[in-house]
Amino acid sequence: MPELPEVEVVRRGLARWAAGRPVSGVEVLDARSTRRHDGGPAAFESQLTGRRLTAPERRGKYLWVPLAAPGGMALVAHLGMSGQLLISSPETPAQRHLRIRVLLEDPVGQGPDAPDAEPALELRFVDQRIFGGLFLDPLVPSADRADQLLPASVAHIARDPLDPYFDADSVHVRLRARKTGIKRALLDQGLVSGIGNIYADEALWRARLHYARPTETLNRGESARLLAAVRDVMEDALSQGGTSFDSLYVNVNGESGYFERSLNVYGQAGRPCPRCAAEHRDTVIVKDRFMNRSSAYCPRCQPVPRRARW
Ligand SMILES: [Zn+2]
Repeated sequence: MPELPEVEVVRRGLARWAAGRPVSGVEVLDARSTRRHDGGPAAFESQLTGRRLTAPERRGKYLWVPLAAPGGMALVAHLGMSGQLLISSPETPAQRHLRIRVLLEDPVGQGPDAPDAEPALELRFVDQRIFGGLFLDPLVPSADRADQLLPASVAHIARDPLDPYFDADSVHVRLRARKTGIKRALLDQGLVSGIGNIYADEALWRARLHYARPTETLNRGESARLLAAVRDVMEDALSQGGTSFDSLYVNVNGESGYFERSLNVYGQAGRPCPRCAAEHRDTVIVKDRFMNRSSAYCPRCQPVPRRARW
């Protein structure tokens, strides 16, 4: 499942290859992939055709491309469990689970026969499990900044830690008010967005906090340390993403190189804690069942709190 860093890689790829291009054709190959669009696949095709894509934006794991005026609309990509956005040449053979093709003309719209026109490209939505999809959504003002527009379907999502307007102090106040376990709070997209299971476990390990720590016991310094750890983990993942935008290929599949090289606790149960090992202590990472998933932590670096909120 794609997490924030993977979605950000896709956003950057779209910014490089798709922004500024007019849509000259849309083909929905599987109606289920436009089920969030009012009016279904035919309306999606006709409403998107002829519009121009602008610079893509992201909040948490939510990605959208505002359309140039008129109308205040955005093309929203919901990647779900297995959704991928690919940029390819229109001649590239269809991928096995190709659901939607969006033909993009050259950015200045001077037509394919103009001497310095860039070649047409195709934005493709590929989705094996069909939990994701594309749809058009009206833009509405953000709750905390009236000058910032975002799709109506994203309006309830909180800012993520990489957002320039992310406010760690206000998150701290709201964290304490939740009176829940810290990891449950981190996974709540209405409080902080973009944190999935992997990034929660890795950030809690870096901040030396146990996942069942009651949020109301966190002081301002601990909250700041935790949110900084979340940001660091995400930035590390981004810097190790290794995706080359020159390859004319934008992809998200939840398998960046980060997952192989840099995990300290997630998926590491039974292995030594790297921090303890550096201090010549043998502590083994353990894994608990948690919200139908799991939580991995170091029992020495992240001791179970006396009053835990599981
Ligand atoms: Zn440790």
